[in-house]
Amino acid sequence: MSTVLIIGAGIGGIASAARLAKAGYEVLVVEKTDRPGGRASTIEQDGFFFDTGPSLFLMPPTFRETYADLGERMEKHLDLVRIDPTYRVHFHDGSVLDLGSDMNALRDQLDAMEPGAFEALLRFLAQGYRRYTTSLERFVGRNFYSLFDFFAPANLPLLFKLKPLVTHYRDTSKYFKDPRLRAGLSFQNMYLGLSPYEAPATYTLLQFTEMVEGVWYPRGGMYSIITSLTKIAEGLGAKFQYNAPVKSIQVDGNRVVGVTLEDGEVLKADVIVANADLPYVYQDLLPNDPKAAKMDRLKYTSSTLMFYWGLKGKREPALLHHNIFLSDHQYQESFAQIFHENTLPAEPSFYIHAPVRTVPTFAPDDGDALMVLVPTGHLDRQRPQDWDALQARAKAWVFKRLAEIGLNDIEGRIVFEHTLTPPDYRRVWNLAKGATFGLSHNVLQVGYLRPHNRHSRYHNLYFAGASTHPGTGLPIVLLSAKLVEERILKEQSVPKGRTFTPA
Ligand SMILES: Cc1cc2nc3c(=O)[nH]c(=O)nc-3n(C[C@H](O)[C@H](O)[C@H](O)COP(=O)(O)OP(=O)(O)OC[C@H]3O[C@@H](n4cnc5c(N)ncnc54)[C@H](O)[C@@H]3O)c2cc1C
Repeated sequence: MSTVLIIGAGIGGIASAARLAKAGYEVLVVEKTDRPGGRASTIEQDGFFFDTGPSLFLMPPTFRETYADLGERMEKHLDLVRIDPTYRVHFHDGSVLDLGSDMNALRDQLDAMEPGAFEALLRFLAQGYRRYTTSLERFVGRNFYSLFDFFAPANLPLLFKLKPLVTHYRDTSKYFKDPRLRAGLSFQNMYLGLSPYEAPATYTLLQFTEMVEGVWYPRGGMYSIITSLTKIAEGLGAKFQYNAPVKSIQVDGNRVVGVTLEDGEVLKADVIVANADLPYVYQDLLPNDPKAAKMDRLKYTSSTLMFYWGLKGKREPALLHHNIFLSDHQYQESFAQIFHENTLPAEPSFYIHAPVRTVPTFAPDDGDALMVLVPTGHLDRQRPQDWDALQARAKAWVFKRLAEIGLNDIEGRIVFEHTLTPPDYRRVWNLAKGATFGLSHNVLQVGYLRPHNRHSRYHNLYFAGASTHPGTGLPIVLLSAKLVEERILKEQSVPKGRTFTPA
């Protein structure tokens, strides 16, 4: 049996482990931290439960496919609830927009903001639908083995249709004039850590998937995706070793042969799948890789300042499960501050996850659990930031905005607090530049142009995760694991009788 060693137990590592174990490989996952999940982790304290990272369950068919490929029914493992309205967008002028699947409610809200906007939304969604299906079928859910594969004559007209050279904001502006609608239907790029002023119009597919396929939430929390997939992987024979950070990857000529852990233990393998962030692997784990310096010059997504607050007292009805607070009057400036100055905007937009509205047991009876996500620039050696000061400013700003909607006692009700800053993302999960969502998805970093799922020199070293093809987000990383399995089955031989004993 051939041995596969996986570096990292993020969702990409877990899904790869399960798939490869099912395919008959002997699989060992070594994870730096004490648990699976990576960015998709959890905090449980004093009766409060928080998802630390992802909170929007998008593209259910992609999750369903992973479970089915592993011989399981998704519904057996995840009790999914559709969150509808998906979220409430709060604008600077005090108005709100509830985006969801209720077409009548949408018509009333949109036409009140701008006559004819509802009809424009229907056209906008139809366009998003076309981009969604084309992207998924032809560019996201498949391997590209050569540049010709990507730019094949049959793909060129489709690439053109995806409007990669028009920005999302400009495209949205063709449908809507009201700045609130332009902002409310383009900020979703932040899920990919992108600015709508730079992201390609292709990503109008996000609004389609949100409003039509829906935004869902598992009653066990997002972490139940991680626990169920880990259990399935273990059931298929994959082994997980925690508190086992890899220090370096060992190479011999044009092959990788194993890893050395921080404690000095050496583990040999026939194939390695690196789930740890791709630029970090090139820069820190591979010996003198010529691409390591180039990794620094690639574009990265934003980072985030995170607050996890356990509150005593009532569950505020003004907050829905998902809430967006937009600084729409400084919309363009705020993205420039994040993406060009790599800092916290003067007036940041932010997101609040309040899952107790869906799962009442995620806080004590007389309490609430809020996760606040404030997008900010990533780590930049040229522009060092005082992250403690920025964190304090972000916190004060969140309290100010909440007070404006009548929630003026939040600060005094906090009984538990945990925070994350860009340096924490670098330190805890080894994310290059502390970029929360990994490498950016600009036109020059997608498809075949994105760092590949297989190393160009070491043909038995693969990458599954957010910074390789196809990209970031839980369902997209699941696709990455699927594409890696496909490549390994196609490209690697299956020698017999190897085991994971220290060298
Ligand atoms: C705040 C936040 C909000 C998000 N919101 C959403 C959302 O709503 N919906 C959505 O779909 N996606 C969302 N995402 C994105 C999603 O979480 C990621 O795209 C996805 O979890 C990435 O998974 P991964 O397996 O690629 O990487 P990771 O989760 O980073 O896993 C990599 C693993 O490798 C380990 N590792 C690193 N170095 C080493 C080493 N040297 N040795 C051993 N192990 C190592 C790390 O500890 C980690 O466990 C969000 C992310 C964040 C942070």
